[in-house]
Amino acid sequence: MPHVLRVALDTPLRRLFDYLPPAPPAGADPAPGTRVRVPFGRQRLVGIVVSAADTSEIAPQRLKPILEVLDATPVLDEASLELLEWAARYYHHPEGEVLSGALPKALRLGAPAGASEERWLATGAGAAALAAGELRRAPKQRALLELLAAEGPCATGLLDARAGSWREAARALSARGFIASSEVPLARPAVCASVRAPGPELLPEQGAAVEAVGAALGRFGAFVLHGITGSGKTEVYLRLIERVLARGGRSLVLVPEIGLTPQLLARFRARFDAPLAVLHSALTDAERLAAWRDAFGGHARIVLGTRSAVFAPVPDLGLIVVDEEHDASFKQHEGGFRYSARDLAVVRARHAQVPVVLGSATPSLETLHNVGAGRYTRLRLERRAALAVPPLLKLVDLRHNAMRSGISTPAALAIERHLGEDGQVLVFLNRRGYAPTLLCTGCGWIAPCRECDARLTVHLAAGRLRCHHCGADAPLPARCPQCGFAVKSVGQGTERVEEVLAAQFPQASLARLDRDTVRRRGDLEAVVRRMATGEARILIGTQMVTKGHDFPNVTLVVVLNADQGLFSTDFRAPERLAQTIVQVAGRAGRGTRPGEVLIQTEFPDHPLLKSLLEHGYEGFARAALAERAQARWPPFSRLAALRASARSAEAALGFLSAARTLAGRPRGVRLLGPVPAAMARRAGRHYAQLLAESTERAPLHTFLDEWLPQVEQLRQARAVRWSLDVDPIELF
Ligand code: ADP
Ligand code: ZN
Ligand code: ZN
Repeated sequence: MPHVLRVALDTPLRRLFDYLPPAPPAGADPAPGTRVRVPFGRQRLVGIVVSAADTSEIAPQRLKPILEVLDATPVLDEASLELLEWAARYYHHPEGEVLSGALPKALRLGAPAGASEERWLATGAGAAALAAGELRRAPKQRALLELLAAEGPCATGLLDARAGSWREAARALSARGFIASSEVPLARPAVCASVRAPGPELLPEQGAAVEAVGAALGRFGAFVLHGITGSGKTEVYLRLIERVLARGGRSLVLVPEIGLTPQLLARFRARFDAPLAVLHSALTDAERLAAWRDAFGGHARIVLGTRSAVFAPVPDLGLIVVDEEHDASFKQHEGGFRYSARDLAVVRARHAQVPVVLGSATPSLETLHNVGAGRYTRLRLERRAALAVPPLLKLVDLRHNAMRSGISTPAALAIERHLGEDGQVLVFLNRRGYAPTLLCTGCGWIAPCRECDARLTVHLAAGRLRCHHCGADAPLPARCPQCGFAVKSVGQGTERVEEVLAAQFPQASLARLDRDTVRRRGDLEAVVRRMATGEARILIGTQMVTKGHDFPNVTLVVVLNADQGLFSTDFRAPERLAQTIVQVAGRAGRGTRPGEVLIQTEFPDHPLLKSLLEHGYEGFARAALAERAQARWPPFSRLAALRASARSAEAALGFLSAARTLAGRPRGVRLLGPVPAAMARRAGRHYAQLLAESTERAPLHTFLDEWLPQVEQLRQARAVRWSLDVDPIELF
């Protein structure tokens, strides 16, 4: 029986590849998690050893040996491997892509995993050659060999200094096996970690939360830290990290894409005198490699990062924190491997036997359901740390109130009053640009995107029409291209609201926060600063204003349009709406003055809005969970979405129909669809989806395990791009 190693390669194939151990004298088998270089067709690829086996389906004479072992210690330790294999199985994604995706690009290409240096030494054969008096006609090679034989292993720096241009001689000598090189890891200086500045005295609820999680250090426990913005959640994380540091452990902190602000980093740095590794999507490859090495080598005592940092190596992990756990950016919903970093954080914590803290002002319904079922422990922070009172929420009924360009009379009066009392005002509208529609007053033509089932958005200041779905960009026409009549902008975006407010409140200076005003590094900080100094009195913004920033003197928040979220085809839309309202409301009255929140709506009697207003987020969550239970949506069922896109709707739907036919009548699983996406055409491609739903997890996964390999083989699969999304958070 051959002894083989199973190697994961970065390919979309759902299998591992068998190789023979490296040829002697390389010695023992490389351990699981070690990178190796292997022949693959005509290529040489870097792979990761997953396991050893005594049987192979490959005929013995066709098995090839591993060419080279790249790591002395595995780059994926046992716990990381376990997590990644779990994730590959759960999300039904090829293991090779999942494993290599957890490593920075440079490591996938074979770069050394640790800070290391290259050293050269003479081999036994080299010493024998010297003794036998060989190499007499190659003085440079002989000199180098003599140096190495006399000195022992030499770093390249030393050779540069003592042997001049030695590389060519080294190549010739190593080709004959007389000398060899190796990468030797550099020892890191030991670092101590300490608290630079003690935090404030904890409020009783904060203290209780720290005690509860602190008591679970060293074992698994899932905790939900539920407290409104400003209630002191971050302070609780900091105290827990302090305890972990004191025990000699390391902490992993995950934050949403937009939450990794300079303010947050500054807060960590001000508190701890301990090395921090920061991992996020905007790093260059070199920066990512450096941060990964800091984490891997154990230099970093705190690893702070966005979604993919859930896979970061953290030796002696003691605690995982997921801040703003409800945030959609924790779910990877593009590309191949679609995972939830929040859910994987809980799995990782369980494997590592450490506590995980999920913090939020508006926990996801899934998380609250887990609290209800007793799987997670909820810790509440009801009071605001900075002694402020929670804001008062009110609805403005748009059916009975006059509007001027999107702003109702009660809202305008409230803005005037708060400005008069020296407060600041935040106006929220989840739509950037000037207006969502350009309409011809003559023939009714509406500017469409050629590539999407969508209208082009008017960007007046830029003089452009832009598609917010595919990025199409065209000059703003002065007249209708069909009939030559005048065109006009219909509806409101943040740019227009800014114009309207500037006209209504000429004495108040305005600031705007959306993707059009924040384009470069520093733009965001500039807006935040204008609000903090009080120079700007009114801030108009999109989703961007709901997260991460303190505007202590904002006393009024106006939500211009709550209705988009109420009647969407996506069952999660109301949850997102409620979270947005609560988060944006949390920006009001963070100082010592009470805040007021006005929500404009045409549906003031909508039951979910009413439950939110009357009973807060908690009441909303109860009502929304009851609705989900009735409709059998998650968390009362399990979903997986098979999605496809193609140049034609027929191809996308045809593939999904064929996939559905293949499935037959699976036991315990309902298939819904295929249906075209709500916005079927985007950037010239047609999107459709087929849902698989089950009340229990097991039947769904058993079904997917059998079904996907067949789906992959479908003839129609070649004509489409397809993907599987387990636990999708957006349905389209
Ligand atoms: P969250 O993360 O819930 O938004 P933070 O931890 O950022 O809340 O706290 C909000 C503000 O209150 C911060 O300025 C913080 O420094 C302050 N703070 C937090 N806890 C306390 C405390 N126990 N005593 C005084 N100030 C506190
Ligand atoms: Zn026209
Ligand atoms: Zn478009």
